[in-house]
Amino acid sequence: MQKRYLFTPGPTPVPPEVLAAMAEPMVHHRGEDFRTVYETCLTRLRAVFRTESDVLLFAASGTGAMESAVANLCGPGERVAVVTAGAFGERWAAICAHHGLDTHRIAYEWGEVPSPDEIGSALAESGASILFCTQSETSTGVVADVQAIKAAAGEATVVVDAVSSLGAVPLETDAWGIDVVVSGSQKALMCPPGLAMASVAPPLWERLPASRSFYFDWRRTKQAQEAFDAAFTPAVSLIRGLNVAMGMLLDAGLDAAFERHVRLGRAARAGLKAMGLELFSPDDDTAAVVTAARVPEGVDGGALLRRLRDRHGVTLAPGQGALKGKIFRIGHIGWFDVFDIAVALAAVELSLTELGAELERGVAVSRAFEAYEARVPA
Ligand code: PMP
Repeated sequence: MQKRYLFTPGPTPVPPEVLAAMAEPMVHHRGEDFRTVYETCLTRLRAVFRTESDVLLFAASGTGAMESAVANLCGPGERVAVVTAGAFGERWAAICAHHGLDTHRIAYEWGEVPSPDEIGSALAESGASILFCTQSETSTGVVADVQAIKAAAGEATVVVDAVSSLGAVPLETDAWGIDVVVSGSQKALMCPPGLAMASVAPPLWERLPASRSFYFDWRRTKQAQEAFDAAFTPAVSLIRGLNVAMGMLLDAGLDAAFERHVRLGRAARAGLKAMGLELFSPDDDTAAVVTAARVPEGVDGGALLRRLRDRHGVTLAPGQGALKGKIFRIGHIGWFDVFDIAVALAAVELSLTELGAELERGVAVSRAFEAYEARVPA
């Protein structure tokens, strides 16, 4: 018997209230029982997205919402621009290429922070009228300034992947004028994987080409949601869970969640640095979602993660792509507190020591608590 700790940047831990809601007996999705939950859930989603627009809800992982954006916004062979700075920017590019679009990359090294001004000029030069970008690039820990990216993008339609950031860091969909935001259930929304969302700004509806997806046809979903009667059999249990999770998030206040994530990021960075590790993700408060550190010289990154999981029950995330084996990532997203950070740090310290790394021992956890306790300036 081994206790398991899930500290990956998705899926993330799910509160017991949410698990309990998902365990309720099944009801039919065309009856009043479900309609009430569906209506509340869609209203809460708008509050979490900070928008008055429709938020379309699909049974899919986050990538489903990303693909829905490509399939509904872009005409055949259209030129589009994509910001790439990690695995999920690459995912946008791959989806666009798969749909036969003329995909223009605005490329950054993995780990670089995209510059809104550069993106603005590159977008203008590309002639594209749709820009796909990522708010929290989960593979590197970088959180991009999507407010400034939208401001630099002129008249272009800006589509933001907020799969790992929605509910963790501020995203003012309406106030910042973000045209489309996509997200998923299994990160800061504190639910299991399986639900994907897309908010769509009203002016877009008149301009949409015919959807190239049947299941992800935005018009069909919007029409169905307006009657609180899902287009297809909805993921009833997951929607019940999401409804409860968003109720918890909104009752505590989104701003409180944003502050907590900043403080968790501070705690993770302070602890990793205290044991002598080098950060890969930025060493500042923007990095409030995922903290990535370099695996120390002489240690096998794969062996570190296996030892953490198999011997100590702690699941962290590896590096992706070319960063595999070179970094490890701690997700501190959603239903997460400073004691979780303490467990993650203590387990990293112990595992690295077991693997022969020279570390400063016994200081990481106390530094993490000190950093957590420092108040976030208003
Ligand atoms: N974008 C980002 C930023 C993500 O973190 C993820 C999931 N790690 C995805 C997209 C893809 O989501 P999913 O795995 O749910 O399809």
